[in-house]
Amino acid sequence: MPALQPVRGTRDILPDESRRRRHVEETAFSIAERYGYGEISTPVFEFTDVFARTLGDVSDIVTKEMYTFADRGGDSLTLRPENTAGVVRAFLSNGLSQHLPLKLFYRGPMFRYERPQKGRLRQFHQVGVELLGVAEPLADVEVIALGADFLGALGLDDKVVLELNTLGDGESRVAYRSVLVDYLQAHRDRLSEDSLMRLDRNPLRVLDSKDERDRTVVADAPLITDSLNAASREFFDELISLLGQVGVAYRLNAKLVRGLDYYCHTTFEFTTDALGAQGAVLAGGRYDGLVQQMGGPPTPGTGWAAGVERLMMLIDEAPQAPRPVAVVPCGSDQVGVGLAISQKLRHAGFPVEFGYKGNLGKRLKRANKVNARTAVILGEDELSRDAAIVRDMDTGEQEEVLLASLEEHLGHYR
Ligand code: ATP
Ligand code: MG
Repeated sequence: MPALQPVRGTRDILPDESRRRRHVEETAFSIAERYGYGEISTPVFEFTDVFARTLGDVSDIVTKEMYTFADRGGDSLTLRPENTAGVVRAFLSNGLSQHLPLKLFYRGPMFRYERPQKGRLRQFHQVGVELLGVAEPLADVEVIALGADFLGALGLDDKVVLELNTLGDGESRVAYRSVLVDYLQAHRDRLSEDSLMRLDRNPLRVLDSKDERDRTVVADAPLITDSLNAASREFFDELISLLGQVGVAYRLNAKLVRGLDYYCHTTFEFTTDALGAQGAVLAGGRYDGLVQQMGGPPTPGTGWAAGVERLMMLIDEAPQAPRPVAVVPCGSDQVGVGLAISQKLRHAGFPVEFGYKGNLGKRLKRANKVNARTAVILGEDELSRDAAIVRDMDTGEQEEVLLASLEEHLGHYR
């Protein structure tokens, strides 16, 4: 029988990579905490309606990317393709509308049936934040600044740019929609099939198309900025002025729309050109209508999500694992005492690698391989004097150290 393979678009994260992933996630969380965000974990699957009702029935996610299945009880469930809808569902299920403003951070796996390629997986990970209950541009500025600080803390300041746009309020979008449809209708012979379908149901989505044919049409399309009403323009102007106050640089991109239906006003994306076509690393915007759409009281919201795998590819190095102490018995007679010493050191906070077997040379080789800083070598002679040899694995220098002062001595190498 051939060995079983992982499902296409999924991957195993081995220890070295886990270290990078944790570094990305922990950095995000520590910055979010600095802004007063608390962590929320919602289930990886929800009733299908949670996503189908909110993401929009012509969004790419709902039409072709969801992992949807009937469970044994006949309910239609979906593996979460993103987490904003789940967070809002949790906000309503837990009756949190008395606790606004609410600032939430999340991390975890998301699932989308997409064509796997570099930076595009079927199970991937996101970190994200949501700020519920603040209608003013101040909230958008806060989440953008948080995102910028997070990417900065990963050392990515020079690798990413912030692109910024507004979709305006409902009235502005209706006005824009009609000029955009007129333009797109005039060029419908040059649009992809997907975009012809979007044309009737959600024409703004055409701006988001990755199809080359669509892109050339979109290049000359009318701009949303020309359709904004006074209130929407004021919102955007205020946002830009506040961004200046926090010193976050941005580039206006009037074609930036988000792939989901629930956005209004602010949309933004931190992008890089270091990852080919998968350039978006952190993306978000304002979703004032979403809570109401899910059956809750009108509640403004804004937030973002970042792709952890894409960020892992961008960062140089995660912090190294702490270098262990190798405990190396010279022979089987010293195994018992070696084990006791290992436990003592571990309980004192030292990472310890135990040399399981082989001759001394083999065990020291293994110590090198695990990047041990020091080796505690347990020979018969030294043990008879209640001592061990401590070897500096970088210089090769060795000295005899009394077991009673082992911890203190090894402490110098921390
Ligand atoms: P893209 O345009 O690349 O498909 P998106 O607009 O679908 O991105 P969002 O729904 O905004 O992505 O998700 C936020 C972030 O999650 C993206 O910016 C990206 O970094 C990451 N992401 C989205 N889909 C995937 C995927 N299939 N594999 C890995 N990362 C992903
Ligand atoms: Mg996508």
